[in-house]
Amino acid sequence: MNKKNKLEKLNKKMLACCRCALRKSCKQVVPGAGNAEAEIMFIGEAPGKKEDELGVPFVGAAGKFLDEMLSHIKLKREDIYIANTVKCRPPENRDPSSEEKEICWEWLVGQIKIIQPKIIVTLGRHSMNLFFPEKKISEVHGKDMSKEFPKMGKQVFFAAYHPAAALYNGGMREALIKDFKKIPNVLKFIKEDNKKDI
Ligand code: URA
Repeated sequence: MNKKNKLEKLNKKMLACCRCALRKSCKQVVPGAGNAEAEIMFIGEAPGKKEDELGVPFVGAAGKFLDEMLSHIKLKREDIYIANTVKCRPPENRDPSSEEKEICWEWLVGQIKIIQPKIIVTLGRHSMNLFFPEKKISEVHGKDMSKEFPKMGKQVFFAAYHPAAALYNGGMREALIKDFKKIPNVLKFIKEDNKKDI
């Protein structure tokens, strides 16, 4: 089975998930979207109002800003895969709880295992802290880090601020654009490093 079919099969399971209370308050599950063969996977926090209505991640104001930043590095949505730490919108867009993130973790690991991205770009503190609970976003944004996880293997991450947080904060916005511009080079180094291992 190819990656696209595997993801579709996983999505069907996610759509039927009601393991936590979020499913009761949201309109629909937002599994993720994009290219199953992507080298870059983005992980945001949680679906917002617009995402909950449309069933697609990052389609609101933060999504527009994300598209703008992707264009800086000559990427389109079709080139990447994008998902969230939790697949259902928390009420009033509150932060997802640790328990909700833990329950949803299995779906995220499933997505990562299928896509096998060369790099995961974490968008915001929640996403980064899911993989690196001890780190501070203000200290690690714009940096690549690698870590091994059970059922996932060794994975390279690149931490960035969340586009929603950067939308109305000039300093953060500049930092986010600057960090995004580093992504193509980081990816290039990862690919060169992988070649050495063969
Ligand atoms: N913010 C997120 O973190 N994810 C979305 O899908 C939309 C906004």
